[in-house]
This record gives sequence, C-alpha cells and structure tokens, in this order.
Amino acid sequence: MKEILKEVIEERAQELKGMAKKIWDNPELGYEEFFASKLQSDYMEKNGFAIREVLNLPTAFIAEYGEGGPVVGVLGEYDALPGFSQLEGVTFKAATESENPNGHGCGHNLLGVAGIGACLAIKEAIDRGIVRCRIRYYGCPAEELLTGKVRMEEEGVFKDLDLALSYHPSDKNAVWAMKTPAMIRANFNFEGTEAHAGYNPEDGRSALDAVELMNIGSNYLREHMSRTSRIHYTITDGGKAPNIVPGEASSSYHIRSESKESVEALYERVVKVARGAAMMTETEVEVDFIGEIYDYEPSNVLKGVAKENLEFAGKILLTDEEKNYARELSATIDPKMRERARKAIGLEEEEVFSTRKIMIEVEPVGGATDVGNVSYIAPTIIISTACMPAGISPHSWQATASFGSELGLKGMIHGSKAMAGTIWDVCTDRELLERIIKDHREKALKQG
Ligand SMILES: [Zn+2]
Repeated sequence: MKEILKEVIEERAQELKGMAKKIWDNPELGYEEFFASKLQSDYMEKNGFAIREVLNLPTAFIAEYGEGGPVVGVLGEYDALPGFSQLEGVTFKAATESENPNGHGCGHNLLGVAGIGACLAIKEAIDRGIVRCRIRYYGCPAEELLTGKVRMEEEGVFKDLDLALSYHPSDKNAVWAMKTPAMIRANFNFEGTEAHAGYNPEDGRSALDAVELMNIGSNYLREHMSRTSRIHYTITDGGKAPNIVPGEASSSYHIRSESKESVEALYERVVKVARGAAMMTETEVEVDFIGEIYDYEPSNVLKGVAKENLEFAGKILLTDEEKNYARELSATIDPKMRERARKAIGLEEEEVFSTRKIMIEVEPVGGATDVGNVSYIAPTIIISTACMPAGISPHSWQATASFGSELGLKGMIHGSKAMAGTIWDVCTDRELLERIIKDHREKALKQG
C-alpha cells in the first residue's frame, strides 16, 4: 500500500520539477523570497492545504492538512546565494544575461519543493484513511543568513511538533546523522574620538585600534578553546581615511562550537576580549548580538527509519544524455575531489553520479544550519539525495548548474519519496513514534 506514495509523487513530478525550476530561474536572497514563497503557498492552497502567515516574516508561511494524530513538520527553504548566477545547461562557468546576480548554489530551489512532494503524498494517504496525522509544511526564509528558523521559532511556530523532517540536495543519498556546530553571530561597534592624524593625534582615540586589538585578543583565544570551535571575523568599518583618527569602527564575528552550551561560553569570552580592547584604547564598545543557532541533534531513531526509506525510494534513473551531462560537469572539478567522493560513496569504476548507494553520515561537519534550533524542540532528521555528481562542492557554479538540471530535479523527486516513506512509517506505527519521542526527551535539550 505504501507504494501509493511513490505513485502520487511520480504523478506530480512534472509539476514539482516545474516549480523547482522556476525558483532556480528566479533566485532570491534571504527575506526577499517573495516569488518563491508565493509560488509554493499558492500551490499548497490549490491542493487543499490551509495557509497561515507568520507574523513579521512576509516570506515565511505554513501550510497544513489533516486532523488528529501526530503533528509532522516538513521544513522547506528557498533562498539563493549572492553571485552564482549560472547559465542553464552548459558545463562551464557563465552568468546569465539577466540583471539578477544571484544563484541557487546550495540547491534551495529543490529543498522546499522536495518537502512539498512528500506533503502531497501524505495528504493522499490521509484522504484514503491509511495515515492519520497533521502534515505541516513550513516555508522557511533566509537559511543562508542562518536566521529564518530562529525568527520563526520566536513566533512559537514549531512548539507543537511531534517530529520534523528536512531535506538537502547533495552529491549523495544519505541520512544526516552527524552533528553540525552551534553558532553565534555578533557585530562589535567601537566608538572613539576623531582627530587629525597628523595635527593632533594625541586628542584622538582610535576605534580602529580597538577593532584590531580585539582581533588580536581573539586570535590568542584560539589556543585555549576546544578543537572544534571556530572564530571568524571581518572588519566591516575600518574608518574613513588614514589622516583621520577613526571615531567609529566595526567588526563582524561568527563563533562556532560543538554545542549550544559551549558556543555561548566561548561567545562570553569573545565579549570580554572586546571590552578589554575598548578599555585599552579608551573607546566604547556596543555589542550587537545578531542571533544564535543551535547544533543539529539528529534523532537516533529517525535516522534508521530514514535510511530504510531511502531504500524504499529506489533508484534515480538517468538517461544517457543526463549521464553525459554529469560526466562533463564532473570533469570540471579537481580529480582528487572527485576520487575522494567516489570512494566515500562507493561508486563503481567510471560512475560519477550516485543513483542508489545510501550512506549514514556521522562525521561532524563545520557548516551550521538553523534546522538545529528545530532539533532542540522536536525529534528531527535531515535526508539528502544525490542532485549533483560526486565531489562537487555546494556553493560552486557546478552545484548551481546541476541543481537547475534534470540531475537535481530527479534527485529532488527521489528525496520526496524518501521523506514521504519516513512519515508514513512513523504515522502508522504508534510504538515507533513513542520511541522517537522518548529518545528525544531523554536528550533533555535546553532551549533559550
Ligand atoms: Zn543549504
């Protein structure tokens, strides 16, 4: 009976691919995704889902269907990256002729739509009386800015979830069972006293000195922080001209660490360094805390269910033409990267695209995601599917090209099937759902 999920998704495949392609053709940055969010919410409304807006976030929305049973959240995204404008169908780097310089280098054109496919299949199962749940699609803005879900969380929209699923295009079919770091972003704005740098520098107090001393202090911190912690910064305002003692200067910091707790502790130390730099230079510092995202805590139980459902999804079938395109695209990357990825995935000789091999990823990664915040609230799992040749890095022109091609679109449909299957399993097995919830409760993750 579960086969109906795949049938519904196959029936809808052209519509879903069309939607993902339109979003690829109109890349929008975080909080500006008016085209993508409207396209998706109109489609969900047309398909019988009730649409809810999210206060203060015009490019966020929630679409829900079903009554009773567990509340299942499917997290979608649709924001693009600056740059990465890429001409369709070619295997070299070339921006489009449009004035829009953005591009879908992270494949978020596929990310949300994969979730929509899963929601439609589950709706069919609800209508046939097989599955009982409230299926809820979240249109989440600005993942690349790492604040979209944090701001949605502030509106309390994830509170009643029993479980959450997300999806990400990748070069492999995998369950994300690894940790991602927690991260805090903050700006440090120093204020000193302007003066003529030649005529009366003794009257000046340089805000730029404070910025530089803060950076030096932070660099000395590195020896005394955990191995997985990271500090990165840029100077966003370094003064106006060398002959003016800068009265204002600013820096922007990203601080990462393995958990919410440890990133907060490290952030406190960086703030002390900033205050020390201000004291040394007789300037004032204003700390502008931008936001915190938590480490992603994958559900121990859901990861097994997700793996079984990547198997249920079957195989990605490519035409000869698509295989050729994959080979040509793959030939543009460093062969070392390709070989490393092929080996990790376990691809056969001459194979460059993973059509069926399934992995459980456990090695912690350096990149953070705001799905982490949801994983503190409800048991969460992220599924990825192959949408580009092995070894291509996300945030590259090759990735952008692949995510706008049949390789990406077929991978996305594969992802819809795996997600729908996972939801089906959990919603038709009370005992499994209870185990998932119990496992999450035992982790005792503290928010706020
Ligand atoms: Zn992404």
